[in-house]
Amino acid sequence: MGLNEYKKKRNFKETPEPSDGKKPKSSDLIYVIQKHNASHPHHDLRVEMNGVLKSWAIPKLPPKRKGLKRLAIEVEDHPLGYEKFKGEIPKGQYGAGKVDIWDSGTYSIIEKSKDLIIININGKKLTGEYCLVRTKFQEQENNWIFFKK
Ligand code: MN
Repeated sequence: MGLNEYKKKRNFKETPEPSDGKKPKSSDLIYVIQKHNASHPHHDLRVEMNGVLKSWAIPKLPPKRKGLKRLAIEVEDHPLGYEKFKGEIPKGQYGAGKVDIWDSGTYSIIEKSKDLIIININGKKLTGEYCLVRTKFQEQENNWIFFKK
């Protein structure tokens, strides 16, 4: 996906969000979930993959325990460095509202294909093996189900 869509959606003269990514530095892959109090409050799951943060918006609370399945809507890739962003996206800007870091840490990939990603999360609120499974729910290619394995 790359960062074109991320940049197109934002006016960096107006939003305090980062405009570009840093280079990956360590072998530890970044994991973060941000709480985003936008017009529809949600949580954003982001994991480092191939030099960007792959991102999913989760309309409900991320699942801390087994047995909870959450819709996770794949959204545009975000730049590395965005995992540290917290603050207020101004009114009128894309994603206007407050962003806070809800959980952070590292993760590793156990299995990855086009429609299935299994990861081991090492965060404070979420830990252990998690699955992302692509679903064709309502013909939407960007809908995934996120749950603890
Ligand atoms: Mn968001």
